[in-house]
Amino acid sequence: MFATSPGMFRWCFTCCGEQLFEMPPCEDGHGEDCLDLACVACGHAIVVGVLVADPGVSLEVRAA
Ligand SMILES: [Zn+2]
Ligand SMILES: [Zn+2]
Repeated sequence: MFATSPGMFRWCFTCCGEQLFEMPPCEDGHGEDCLDLACVACGHAIVVGVLVADPGVSLEVRAA
């Protein structure tokens, strides 16, 4: 049985074409929830899921 999609094709700006992206080793503790993808050809990393903005979260400007 195959594991959940080992990679997916995305547009890589560095390669100027579609490349296979895979989840790189996450060092941020995201585990299986990690949304990082890295181009297997050049290593260019992208973050998926950024289009799904949480409407309840707003940028907080911290006063100095
Ligand atoms: Zn991560
Ligand atoms: Zn690439």
